[in-house]
Amino acid sequence: MCDSLLEALESSGSTGTLGRLVQVVVQRVYTVPFPQSSALKHRGLWTSPGTEVATSQSSSSRVCVLVQDSWGVFGEVRLQQSGSEPHPQRFQAWEGRSCVLRDVTVVQRVTRDRCVHLFSLIDSLWPPALPVTVECGAATCEESQVKVQPPSFCYRLSGREGSLLLSQGHPPSPLYQPAVLQSLAEILQAERRGVCCSFIAAVVFVQLQDSDAGDRESWLFVTDASLQGASGGRGSCSRCVAVCLRPSCSLQDSVRQAIGSSSPPSSSSACWLRFKDAVLQQGGVVCLEQTVVSPEPAGPSGPLPRPLVLDPLSPDTPPNTLCSLSGVVLGVEEDSAYSWPVCSVCESERLEIAPDKTSAFVCTACGVVVEKPTVKLHLEVFLSCPTLGPQATVKVKVRSHVRGRQLWKRRGHR
Ligand SMILES: [Zn+2]
Repeated sequence: MCDSLLEALESSGSTGTLGRLVQVVVQRVYTVPFPQSSALKHRGLWTSPGTEVATSQSSSSRVCVLVQDSWGVFGEVRLQQSGSEPHPQRFQAWEGRSCVLRDVTVVQRVTRDRCVHLFSLIDSLWPPALPVTVECGAATCEESQVKVQPPSFCYRLSGREGSLLLSQGHPPSPLYQPAVLQSLAEILQAERRGVCCSFIAAVVFVQLQDSDAGDRESWLFVTDASLQGASGGRGSCSRCVAVCLRPSCSLQDSVRQAIGSSSPPSSSSACWLRFKDAVLQQGGVVCLEQTVVSPEPAGPSGPLPRPLVLDPLSPDTPPNTLCSLSGVVLGVEEDSAYSWPVCSVCESERLEIAPDKTSAFVCTACGVVVEKPTVKLHLEVFLSCPTLGPQATVKVKVRSHVRGRQLWKRRGHR
């Protein structure tokens, strides 16, 4: 047994398995999508872009445990799946516990520039809660934390559930640094971009958007009491924050359901979510593979005040902002108005008439029979907005989502 990951790595044999038992603390547990081989991709088992959000990812995800030794060195242990699907909640209870690593294999040494997001998390856990042990000359001594630079590398390890022998009946390790919940106003005002943040917020609006990489990302527009209260919305803070859920962020089914059935945020059944270790970036917050999103029964300070306040549209409003707008309708673009049905599960437009039924569709993207497709509407309206200027006219694209066949039957589609 030793207390240094590096020492155990040095004694690893040709198989790459650590030669010694190592004492570490579990700093974080999260789930990453299981990398699918290109062979599977070509055989058509790869899900098409756009289905990630709607369909469950849990069957192809893997639990990762970020551990740290008393020397400050981090290791990310990816657990091999043992048959059944991982239950993230069960593994979350490991956080903060001391444990002994055994039978883990070194997969990769990852560096800061190759794994920016992993190091966002590692940086948020630095400096360690206790002074780390460092070598000084021949002897070892405890250096003061400020002198020790954040690590520039981390080892990616592979193991099984039994590779972590958790200490029994002990309080959280003194090395453990739990995620600190902040209000959205605190996070936005600090403006520490690229740094992990954790918060609880209510979902106001959900939008699916194609990313530059061709993946389908989900954007959640969220708010909390700190942005909705009397002091909210001042200075650099807006009333809502855009949260991007990257495809690499594994969502539990309970979170998908909560987002899918979200009610207005002022109501008592609003969708509250806890975001742990998301990353603040320009224009909002990003959820990556190290981020854990979980449902919350209620807001930390009760329901939000009614009515919900959004920032009014102004010439300075940045793109991708949820804002409010009022004005007088001057006209409608009649020629370009149309509606079309999409799959009610994955929002794909690839619907075909079901062969056996005339009243249903089959989605060729996700394969489900769609009894009631979602109808999307394309409508452009011109508004006169005196609050934006004396002659200000704003063109508004109305993007309504109507469930059911009625509108689709009435308007047809182009
Ligand atoms: Zn579909």
